[in-house]
Amino acid sequence: MVDSSKNNRLLPGRSTTAPVLRRLPGKARPRDEVLRECEAETAEMRTRIPRALWVFLVPDLTRVFRWRVELDCGCITEVMTRGDSVPPHELEWVEPVHGWGLPVGQMMCWHEDSPPSPYQGIAEWGERRDVRFPSGPVEPPEDVDAQLWSVIRHDEPHTSAFWTVTLTCGHVSETIAPDIDWVPASGPRRTAPERVQQMSAEFERAWLADPELQPERDREHTRRMLSAGWPSPQPEQLCDTCAQARLITTYERTGWLVSPRRKPEKSLSVAPAASQSAVERQLQKAEAAAERLRVELDQFDN
Ligand SMILES: [Zn+2]
Ligand SMILES: [Zn+2]
Repeated sequence: MVDSSKNNRLLPGRSTTAPVLRRLPGKARPRDEVLRECEAETAEMRTRIPRALWVFLVPDLTRVFRWRVELDCGCITEVMTRGDSVPPHELEWVEPVHGWGLPVGQMMCWHEDSPPSPYQGIAEWGERRDVRFPSGPVEPPEDVDAQLWSVIRHDEPHTSAFWTVTLTCGHVSETIAPDIDWVPASGPRRTAPERVQQMSAEFERAWLADPELQPERDREHTRRMLSAGWPSPQPEQLCDTCAQARLITTYERTGWLVSPRRKPEKSLSVAPAASQSAVERQLQKAEAAAERLRVELDQFDN
């Protein structure tokens, strides 16, 4: 059983009541329509996944259960789970853009009027991934000043290291390392105090000259980073997931994807367990026959 109060804590200011099971307004999509889509998807999977792995990777549609869920943004959506024993709010769903796992009971739902992304601290370092970049074009990109481009342009192809991080909100993100040899245990690199002082004065001047330059949230972040010695990587970053992650507040049981009345042999889904047991039965029969022959041979010898 998942402690949903713990998960609600991760989305501050959001509902703290446990999700409820009840009838939701509207109707689920017709089962045949959803089944046809799922069958097309599993058929496509079988064309590219080696047969020996189907049992692990291709879902057995006879075991798929459908639900409808209401999120705390008010949207109602349909989800499917393996079996019907664990309700959707007790599962980890995936953020579909990067495939990162979300905290239990959260799902993504994009709304243009969502609150701005908040800054969140880095709680945990994960995997590293190296990305090779070609050298930058000589001409600056349209929105970059020529002088700035002469400073930031890479003359040679280079590799940067990206680290997966878990933020204090529980969401996964990625951050770039100051250089390829950097590891989290080294701690952030800091900028020389004189340079930080200079940057502080430059930022304050820029904000004074153009109050619209950065929203207050970004200014506060910049001030925190300056007072921390302008560390790299930064110990906090914007969490875009926070702004679009929703909590499941209500759930409704829709039913099995494949009607339980439908005979298993008519089902288009592959039931690997059944074919495996059929092979086992054949093997048992063959072994029994071999045993009978051995007994007959023994009698022959005698
Ligand atoms: Zn929504
Ligand atoms: Zn977040």
